[in-house]
Amino acid sequence: MIGPYILYPMNFSNAEKIYLGIGGNQGAIINTIDSVIESLLNHSKIAHLQISRYYLTSPVGGPPQGHYINAVIAFDTLLEPLELLHFTQSIEQKLGKQKKMINGPRTIDIDILFFGNRIIEEKNLQVPHPRFQNRLFVLKPLHDLINQISTYKCTFEIDQLLKDFINTNSELVLPIDECFCMYKMALMC
Ligand code: ADP
Ligand code: MG
Repeated sequence: MIGPYILYPMNFSNAEKIYLGIGGNQGAIINTIDSVIESLLNHSKIAHLQISRYYLTSPVGGPPQGHYINAVIAFDTLLEPLELLHFTQSIEQKLGKQKKMINGPRTIDIDILFFGNRIIEEKNLQVPHPRFQNRLFVLKPLHDLINQISTYKCTFEIDQLLKDFINTNSELVLPIDECFCMYKMALMC
């Protein structure tokens, strides 16, 4: 069995499982998300990537702006948390992210939702991501990949969080394949 050694020359037995939330609403966002995935795949300390469905989502907060595409990506990594944050921030920069306004339109946003079972309270990094439970555009794609996630303090049941979710912002979160079907059905009417 030589295949895995060729694919992943590093030993991932001590790797941490990561969940990233990604999204954007400016430019060719599906291509941008694909570029994020390519950059992650090319990192030698990242392996075993899984990707949720892509979702069309309505903006939450901020100025009037266009809809987003969101997804969640899971992988194993040998990077430390701040190394991963610097790497994801370098990808954001490479793909043209500019900090303009809170909840404003953006080409790409990459948030670290979970880092193994760790709880991180650094000035520039809080994990689990402090707002993940309040965002349907995170919970739905996350649920495509996993239902139960634990930190060393508690366990989150994503299906329960979805059942209990109060959609105060009337968030629309639809897998884009379903949007395409609805669009085609609308054309047939
Ligand atoms: P948003 O809050 O809309 O995601 P930004 O992407 O511009 O806004 O992030 C602002 C800051 O959030 C970054 O400078 C980063 O250091 C910090 N941050 C804190 N926790 C996290 C996390 N879990 N994932 C990504 N960034 C984080
Ligand atoms: Mg962010």
